[in-house]
Amino acid sequence: MTAVPRSAQLSDIRQQNYSTIMRELMRSGPTARTDLATAIGMSTGSVTRLTGALVRSGLVTEVTEPTQRGMGRPKVPVAIDGSRYGVIGVHFGLHRTMTCLIDLRGRLIAELPTTERTTNLRPLVRSVARSVHKMLDTHDLTVLGVGASTGGWVDSAAGKVHSQPVLGWQDAPLAAMLGDLVDRPIRVDSQVRALALAEHWFGAATGVDNFIHLFVGNVIGAGYVFNGSPYRGAHSAAGGLDHLPVAGRSSEPCTCGSRTCFAAVGGDLEVARRARAAGLISGDQEVYDVFALAVNGDARARRLLQDRAALVGTATATLIELLDPELVVIGGGIAAPVDHVAVLRESARAKLAVDRGGDVEARIRASAFGPHALGIAAAAIMLDAVYRSPETFVAALRANAV
Ligand SMILES: [Zn+2]
Repeated sequence: MTAVPRSAQLSDIRQQNYSTIMRELMRSGPTARTDLATAIGMSTGSVTRLTGALVRSGLVTEVTEPTQRGMGRPKVPVAIDGSRYGVIGVHFGLHRTMTCLIDLRGRLIAELPTTERTTNLRPLVRSVARSVHKMLDTHDLTVLGVGASTGGWVDSAAGKVHSQPVLGWQDAPLAAMLGDLVDRPIRVDSQVRALALAEHWFGAATGVDNFIHLFVGNVIGAGYVFNGSPYRGAHSAAGGLDHLPVAGRSSEPCTCGSRTCFAAVGGDLEVARRARAAGLISGDQEVYDVFALAVNGDARARRLLQDRAALVGTATATLIELLDPELVVIGGGIAAPVDHVAVLRESARAKLAVDRGGDVEARIRASAFGPHALGIAAAAIMLDAVYRSPETFVAALRANAV
C-alpha cells in the first residue's frame, strides 16, 4: 500500500470537517457552536476554530441576534451565509432550457429561460453560456460553479450525456463544451438525480439520508440517495425505470416494442392519448390541459389521472420492497393535482406486505417543487458538490485554512 502523506491526510480530515459543519447548518438552520459540537460529535474548540475559518471565508455567518437561554453567556448562533456565494443551474429540456441562480441556502435569486428555439447541442450550449454570463454580470453573488442536467442517460463522472433521446443527443461532452465557454467548475448529472439532490438539500427530503425521488412525467425515472449520497449505479444508469414492466397496457407500443413498460403505460404522453381518445382534449392539446380539466372538476379527467396515480402507486410499492427507503418523494406532473398523491399512497398501501409498508402516509410524500423546478434542481448538483468539499471550490477557505 502506498503511504498517503500526512499533510494530505490532514487536509482530507479538515475538508471532511468543514463539510460536516456546513451540512449540519444547512439541515438545522442557525445553531449555537456548542449545540453544533454536540450534534456532530466534535469538540467545541474544534468547532469554534473551523467555523472561524468558514466565517472569514464568507460561507458561514454569525447571526446577529444572540439567543439567551437561561443563565450564562449569550450564545451567538452561526448559520449558512446566503449573501456571498451562489451556484448556477442549467436544465436542458425539450420545451425550454432554463438557467437559475441560487444562493448557498438554496433560495432562488434569478432565472432566465433561453430563447433559442433548437435542441441542437452546440447552439443551445452557446445560448446557455450567454445566460450564465448575464447572471454573472448582473448579480453580486460569487458564483462557485455551474450544474447542468437533462433527461436520459447522463454520466456524471465523465461529464457526458451518453444518450438523451428526447433532444436527440448522443455522447455529448456537455461538461467540456460548457467549460470552454464558462470559466467556472461544471458538474453534469441526470435530471432525476438533480431533483433528488434538490429535495435532499432544500426540499421534501431535508435531513433524510435514504430516499427515492420518483419522477413521473413524459419520462419516468428515479433518483436514489443512499447514506446521504446520490447512487448512480455501475454505469451511471441507475434509476431509468422507463421499461420496468407494470400492470396495464399502453395504447401505443413503447420504443422497445412492448406495451407494458412503465413510461408507455404511466407517462404523461399516454394520459394525453387516453384523454384524446375519450374526446376530453383535442389533437393539439397535451397533458397540461388534462390537469386543468381535473383541477376544474371534470370527473373523467380526474378518473384518468387517478388511474395513472394508482398504477404509479403499485410501482412505488415495488421500489419500497426492493430498496427499503425512509421516504419516496413523488415529483413531475403527477404531483400537480394534489389528491393524486393520496390515491397513489392508497394503491401502494394495498400492494405492500403489511410488515413492509410501515407508515405509508409519512413514507410517500409529494415533491416540494412545482413542475418548473428543473433549473433549480440543476443548481443543486453544484450545491451538493460545494457542500461535499468546500475547500475545492472556495479559494478564500483554502487561504483561511486552520
Ligand atoms: Zn419499453
